Amino acid sequence: MAGQAVVVAGGGPTGLMLAGELALAGVDVAVVEQRAGQDLVGSRAGGLHARTIEVLDQRGIADRFLSQGQVAQIAGFAWIPLDIGDLPTRHPYGLALWQNRIERLLAGWVGELGVPIHYGREVTGFAQDAAGVDVALSDGRSLRADYLVGCDGGRSPIRKAAGIAFPGWDPSTSHLIAEVEVAEEPEWGTRRDALGIHGLSRLEDGGAVRVMVTEQRLGATGEPTLRDLGEALVAVYGTDFGIHSPTWISRFSDMARQAASYRKGRVLVAGDAAHVHYPTGGQGLQLGVQDAVNLGWKLAQVVKGVSPDGLLDTYHTERHPVAARVLRNTMAQVALLRTDDRTDALRDAVSELLGMDEPRKRVAAEMSGLDIRYDLGDGHPLLGRRVPDLDLVTADGPRRVFTLLHDARPVLLNLGEPGGLDITPWVDRVRSIDATYAGDWELPVLGRVAAPAAVLIRPDGYAAWAGDGTDAGLREALATWFGSP
Ligand SMILES: Cc1cc2nc3c(=O)[nH]c(=O)nc-3n(C[C@H](O)[C@H](O)[C@H](O)COP(=O)(O)OP(=O)(O)OC[C@H]3O[C@@H](n4cnc5c(N)ncnc54)[C@H](O)[C@@H]3O)c2cc1C
Repeated sequence: MAGQAVVVAGGGPTGLMLAGELALAGVDVAVVEQRAGQDLVGSRAGGLHARTIEVLDQRGIADRFLSQGQVAQIAGFAWIPLDIGDLPTRHPYGLALWQNRIERLLAGWVGELGVPIHYGREVTGFAQDAAGVDVALSDGRSLRADYLVGCDGGRSPIRKAAGIAFPGWDPSTSHLIAEVEVAEEPEWGTRRDALGIHGLSRLEDGGAVRVMVTEQRLGATGEPTLRDLGEALVAVYGTDFGIHSPTWISRFSDMARQAASYRKGRVLVAGDAAHVHYPTGGQGLQLGVQDAVNLGWKLAQVVKGVSPDGLLDTYHTERHPVAARVLRNTMAQVALLRTDDRTDALRDAVSELLGMDEPRKRVAAEMSGLDIRYDLGDGHPLLGRRVPDLDLVTADGPRRVFTLLHDARPVLLNLGEPGGLDITPWVDRVRSIDATYAGDWELPVLGRVAAPAAVLIRPDGYAAWAGDGTDAGLREALATWFGSP
């Protein structure tokens, strides 16, 4: 295998999204995935939240996902449902779609973009020097790259080998999850008892059964077995329902940990490799995909020599706080999901609060990723926030903002005097568009904000600069984000 600019270790949702972003930016990238193919045994993430759907829409591929899943109100906090139907987005809903199908769609897109995915191979080690990284593979070969990104999951061998600390909280609850056959009719649905929450449901194929059971003890090591699952079921239900023929048995807990640094020289981590937490709220896959969309264009610019490699530090500064908030909200949800009477009373009280419009909208925007704001300093409320998918009128006819982002290039959207903003030194990097927009500017949580006269939109869809009718600060923003003139 020849050398490439970027090697992505791990072909899960994060690695695939990152590979797609890099390929769109014209960077030579390869994915190394230890699985033999894209098939994912078991059923991890169950869908996409609104901001992730928007991010896919920004690349013109949201319809592929929407056509395969079920649009639904899926946001919630500690199992308290949160309707996002009135939040200002073109996608005020979530999408129920299992992770194996999400991954297949992403892999299809990445394939169309010409990215090689080397299945059945593991990254076994790496050595970085001033000029690049040598990446060792399990087949004995090695790849030379400018950068290596570990999208290799919660146990991330890359994070460990890079010596990146993973501080956080040990588990307070642990569950087995499995897909099995049963000999007896089990107790369907969810059961809550002093130990925690348990549940059995029929898989879509009608044959197998999905089991989730809280374990009596914490700290088990090693891969869980059918025997472990049987014992856990007996402890809760008094019977194991004659479980047999498992296709998948796994363990997950509420351990919450986050990489102390998302970067060590030429090695970066993203997705579960950078953060792990309890699945309630369904935020892990979303975080990973959005890490990738934050990192992709920055890494591409650095690899192409457009930006200095310090731009990569903004990946940590922007994304670390987002995951830290998710860790915090999952810990709060775990506490609210405890099964004693007092916690039930507390959850009822929180449920009442979340029934009020303002708290619901705030928490719903957080859980669906619509409220993310990167700290890019003071200024217009749009700064550092996602630019809404406005219906614009341009000289070429009607255009949506997200359509302008399909090729993952930055856009200067000028809504004022046509031709009024001169960005000549950046024309090869930034697309400038004159347009008009007649409607309100409404942002999740904030509500209506004053219409900016112009917005500099980064490839990830976040506002890098918002103009008030002059070009004050525009050149600085262009130089900060898209290289010197
Ligand atoms: C029970 C459960 C339910 C969940 N539900 C949701 C949900 O509803 N919504 C949600 O958003 N998230 C959910 N999640 C979390 C979600 O599954 C993860 O956050 C997501 O898979 C992270 O994607 P990733 O690509 O970062 O990591 P992974 O999906 O773990 O992918 C990492 C990849 O790296 C590969 N790999 C590992 N080591 C190497 C190596 N050395 N070399 C090459 N390849 C390697 C692995 O084979 C794997 O394919 C759930 C998780 C669990 C356990």
